Formats: sequence, C-alpha cells, structure tokens
Amino acid sequence: MTNVRLSPDGAIGPSGRARSSEAPSAERLSLAREVPPDWLDRLLMGHAALLPTTPLLESVESLLAISVDVLDDLAIGVCIPGVDGRQVVVRRPDRVSQVGTPDAVRLFPEHEGERAIDIPGEPGATLHVGAHDRERLHHAAVLLYVDRLAEVLGSVIRVQRAMTRAPSTEVHRLQDQVIQLEKLASLGQMVAGIVHEINNPLTSIVAYSDYLRKKGERAGSDQADVDRLARINEAAERILRFSRDLTEYSRPRAVVPASVPIHDVIDRALVFCEHELDQTGVMVERNFGEIHPVRGVAGQLTQVFVNLFTNAAHAMRDQGGLLTITTSMPTADEVLVIITDDGHGIDQETLPKIFDPFFTTKVDGRGTGLGLSIVRSIVQNHGGRILAASNSPKGTVFNVALPIAATPDETE
Ligand code: ADP
Repeated sequence: MTNVRLSPDGAIGPSGRARSSEAPSAERLSLAREVPPDWLDRLLMGHAALLPTTPLLESVESLLAISVDVLDDLAIGVCIPGVDGRQVVVRRPDRVSQVGTPDAVRLFPEHEGERAIDIPGEPGATLHVGAHDRERLHHAAVLLYVDRLAEVLGSVIRVQRAMTRAPSTEVHRLQDQVIQLEKLASLGQMVAGIVHEINNPLTSIVAYSDYLRKKGERAGSDQADVDRLARINEAAERILRFSRDLTEYSRPRAVVPASVPIHDVIDRALVFCEHELDQTGVMVERNFGEIHPVRGVAGQLTQVFVNLFTNAAHAMRDQGGLLTITTSMPTADEVLVIITDDGHGIDQETLPKIFDPFFTTKVDGRGTGLGLSIVRSIVQNHGGRILAASNSPKGTVFNVALPIAATPDETE
C-alpha cells in the first residue's frame, strides 16, 4: 500500500494521498465569477445530456472527457467504491477504465502533483486531478470547477445507486418510471409540433375577433355582442400566450445557457401550474424584488419552478392555502427565490430524504419521486443551491439561490 503523505493544502505529494475539504462557501459564492462561464456551460450541457439509464461508467467518462478538454494540461479521474466493496476507477485523458482496481490511492503516479477531493454524498468516492506543474492544481478557477464537477458526479452516482441497489420489484417499478419518463420526453417533442398547428388558426381567431369587435363598436352594434367578441378575443389571446409558452418550454432545443430574467421564468411556471393551483384553491402571492437576470437555461429553470409549485399545490390539496414567491438579492452575486406554502409540511424524519431520486410519499400515483432530485440537479448545474425547511404539520419553505449572469443586459 502506498504511503500517505499529507501536505498542508490537501494536495497529494509524490508518495501519497490527501483529501482537500470542499471549497469554502465564500469561494462557492464567487464560482460564477471565477470560472469561465463556458466551462460551466459545457458541464451543464454534458450533465443535461445524461439519462438516468446511462451506465455509470459511461456517464462518468463523458463528464471527465468534457473536463479534460476544459482543464487543459490536467489529468483527471475518479475513484468510486463499487457496491461489492471493489473500486471503480476512471482515468482521463488516457481513457482507461478499470473495475476492481485493488489500490487506487494515486491515480496519477506519473504526475508531480495530485489532488483528491471528496465527492459529496458518496463516502469513499474521490475525484482526482493530476498535473506535472503543481501550481496548476492551486489555480482558483481549477479548484472551483473541480468542486462543481465533484457535486455533479455525486448526483450522477446517487441516481445510479438508486437504480442498481433497489430490490428487484423496485427495479421493475423504476424501469417502468424511466419508460414513462422517456414517453413523456417524446410527448414533449410532439407538443411543439401540435402547438404550432394550433397557433395558426388561433392567430386568425385573435385577429378577426378584434377586427369584428372594433367594427361593431364603430357601427354602434348591440353592446352585449361587442362584449362577447371582446371575451372571445381575450380567451383566444390567453390560449395563444399559453401555447407559445408551452412551445418554448417543451421544444427540444440545444441547451444554450444565456442570461435569464427569473421573474419571467417564475411567471411562466405559474401559468403552467395555474390549473393545479386553481383546483386546489391556492392563492399565489408574488413578492418580486429588484434582481439581476441569472445565467442559465430558461427551459430547465422553468422545470425547477413547475416542480416546486406542483409539490406545493399537492401539499395544500386538502385545505387550499397560500403560495408565496419572494425574490431578492441578498448578495451581489446571487438571486434568492423563496417559495413558501402552508400545506401539510414535511416531518423531520422525511426531510433529509426528499431530494433522493425516487423518494415519494405520494401513494396515490401522483408521485414519481423524481421531481426534487431533478430540481436539485438543475440548480446545482447552474451553480446554485437549494435548501428545504419545514414546520410539519404545516408549511414548507424552499430557498433557491442562483448565480447572476455576468452580463445582465444580454437576455435570452
Ligand atoms: P414526488 O412529488 O413525485 O413525490 P418529489 O421528488 O418532487 O417527488 O418530492 C419528494 C417528496 O418530498 C414528496 O413525495 C413529498 O413527500 C415531499 N415534498 C416535496 N415538496 C413538498 C412540499 N411543498 N410540502 C410537503 N411535502 C413536500
């Protein structure tokens, strides 16, 4: 076994290994500023392209391949304890994947320096970065990027664990859910085409009803008829707005991060959830503050709020209640969205599990247990954080923090 030699900064010396702790929170907050946005964008796109069914090694290899490209001159690898106690080791750039390596203390013995970083939420799993020039390992942008990559890998590994460790009946249930999700994804692609077909006749209805209403007004026609035409026009415009938003949300398009006004995203998500919220008798209060746009993918961020609002509506299903959405900028770098409901709340035992893939308490078939795990992945991919708090038996609060866009005026 290789000797372990700790150096004060957590880097590994030529003969051993040490783990650096996670980057301090102040560093995390400035991540969006320190790391070139295109690095984060590539990671975001790479993660978004992975399906829950993509095998673990393949997922890890593709994320490492992206990282090797952006972290020029660095070697990068991961070491994951396998389910049977063996190590799963993946190294880049030499594209060697090994399962069952007995000793993966140093993945890059040929390099002068190596850092190992714990992968959050995965005891014993480490992300390694090696370089001939040890200075490269201390570069702030490299450290912060690697920290982000560790978080993304943690979420990929968690999904895989949930898929592979489940008992066999559970595996079948999960497979059914994956098939269902894939069906929904293709349905989403069809929606874009269908909505396009609806939009054309709808545009005619909007234009002609408006024309007839104005004509009726000018000609002094029966006011009740003019009002009816106005209602047709408003209703058609509403459907048109909704269907345009739906197209935007569901259109399969390249994941290109941009500067996104988060209030528009929240409003769009509220429109999608309007039916659910109305049915539940939920009132919505929007306390929108003065905030900058965030950097991200509008469609994915919409998904975050659709999931959170849907969960809030489900929690208030029995008695109705108030959904409050508050936005602010507690620091110069971040937008904070606080979503509060006064539904049935979450008890302290359940709270730590809610972000786990496939965890659900909805026994009536309304839940897949994937909503919050998707929400967390998207938020983390955007360099943000999500926290939940609850005062069971009443009320839940979700805090979503997202880094602002570097150039607030360049909107999507
Ligand atoms: P699903 O909604 O399909 O069950 P999620 O991952 O979205 O899956 O949520 C996981 C669990 O977290 C839910 O089943 C529920 O128990 C709990 N939860 C999430 N949001 C809320 C909320 N606003 N109020 C109460 N419980 C919630």
